[in-house]
Amino acid sequence: MYSSYDIVVIGGGLGGLTAANRLARAGYRVLLAEQHTQLGGLATYFKRKGHLFDVALHGFPVGMRKSLRKYWGNDFAKQVIQVKSIRFDNPQYHLESTFDTQDFSRKMTEHFRLAPETVQAFFEAIAQMNYYDDQTMTTRQFFQKFFPGRTDVWRFLMEPITYANGSTLDEPAISYGIVFGNFMSEGVYTFLGGTDLMLKMMEEELARNGVEILRGARVEAVLVDGHRVTGVTINGQNIACRAAVSNGSLPRTVFELAGNEHFSQEFLEGLRKVRLSTSSCQVYLGIKPGEKLPYIGDLVFHSTYPEFDANALCDHHITSRTFSVYYPEIRPGSSEYAIVASMNAKYQDWDGLTAEQYRAEKDKLVEDAFASIEPYVPDIRQITDYTCAATPRTFQRYTGHLNGATFGTKFEGLKFSQGLPKELPGFFHTGSVGIIMSGWLGAANYGVIVANEVDKYLQVNKL
Ligand SMILES: Cc1cc2nc3c(=O)[nH]c(=O)nc-3n(C[C@H](O)[C@H](O)[C@H](O)COP(=O)(O)OP(=O)(O)OC[C@H]3O[C@@H](n4cnc5c(N)ncnc54)[C@H](O)[C@@H]3O)c2cc1C
Repeated sequence: MYSSYDIVVIGGGLGGLTAANRLARAGYRVLLAEQHTQLGGLATYFKRKGHLFDVALHGFPVGMRKSLRKYWGNDFAKQVIQVKSIRFDNPQYHLESTFDTQDFSRKMTEHFRLAPETVQAFFEAIAQMNYYDDQTMTTRQFFQKFFPGRTDVWRFLMEPITYANGSTLDEPAISYGIVFGNFMSEGVYTFLGGTDLMLKMMEEELARNGVEILRGARVEAVLVDGHRVTGVTINGQNIACRAAVSNGSLPRTVFELAGNEHFSQEFLEGLRKVRLSTSSCQVYLGIKPGEKLPYIGDLVFHSTYPEFDANALCDHHITSRTFSVYYPEIRPGSSEYAIVASMNAKYQDWDGLTAEQYRAEKDKLVEDAFASIEPYVPDIRQITDYTCAATPRTFQRYTGHLNGATFGTKFEGLKFSQGLPKELPGFFHTGSVGIIMSGWLGAANYGVIVANEVDKYLQVNKL
């Protein structure tokens, strides 16, 4: 490690990794400090007892292929493949879809019996949405305008997006429309070879471009001199830098890494009001070597709740889950099957439990996941030889996100993330904020946007 860098990137999530690569390609000397022993942040994987589990590889929009090609290389783009089938099972409908405009339009007219002109007008309205639009209309009002009272249609359109970014019907319609529109261009995609291969390739590419990666390296503070960032403290050691990019939790970036004294009262008060997204729970099921899962779809949205309800989707005693089913084809050459059940969740429901209660609640998560998979795979208990569960506490512990927020902040957070360098020159933030800058695509793209801002700052200020 050197004693001085052009830029220190704090955190190796998709935003931090992509920003680091972009800046290194532009010729800067970059240090990437990740507190965990593993890269990827939320987009990571882990191995237990011979099983490999992807944490956040359920699907992303096709735009990820272009972003990977542009900011990482053609080899990455070639690994992006389409997910074959997405299944929806709930009391209002049972459907399978490829989750693209054509198939969704067909389902909306044939299954939900909507007028083709209304469906077309809806998709046109989605296509025209952009970030600078009116932000006062809520998703509820938007749905009500096109499909009044059709809660089955609302659920069809909304439930996958709530899983993808934690948004509700009462948030700005554009936070829904932009994410939905991204998926609707061509369906849902995944990375052939899994998260482990993608991160290995990223690490190799970063090394080729000269990025130094430190793991187990927690940045404790940014150093400020003359009201601009001049360095960071990593595990007690000061390292000089001309700019720092935090990929961590937005409030912790400001309040803990920098400290209140560097910001205006207006900025601090505004940031205090920014709402964090909800968190997640997951159950991981490893299938015994030699056993197989039947093909039940790549992604299964399963719910026993009567209607769409964003609160019910993160209820402590949840009745809705997505199952990501991993068949051996995702990792060519392997013969492994695994299922990851994901649920939205609230940190408050998990905070404060005693060790015994916490264990019991985690056991219940696993048990409930088994019970809801049984209708699809009746012998699931017999063919599973490994189970474990993650909760909002797990996500907080491994990524440092306050309250284990798994999609960053709500809509209003973006302004504060982007406003950071205006308050404290040389200090930047990237990563999941404001709903649209979240998920694999949003986080990676935001990494590039912020890297360009850093480049501009260093050029303009001749630092
Ligand atoms: C259960 C689950 C499923 C998901 N599924 C999907 C999906 O299918 N498709 C999709 O597109 N998105 C999905 N997402 C969302 C997606 O994974 C995230 O939005 C995205 O990966 C976040 O990237 P990020 O840049 O915000 O960084 P993060 O992933 O938040 O990473 C931040 C990194 O910074 C590090 N860090 C923080 N503070 C410090 C510090 N002080 N010093 C050093 N390091 C620090 C952390 O350890 C972490 O590695 C899912 C998320 C979850 C939780």
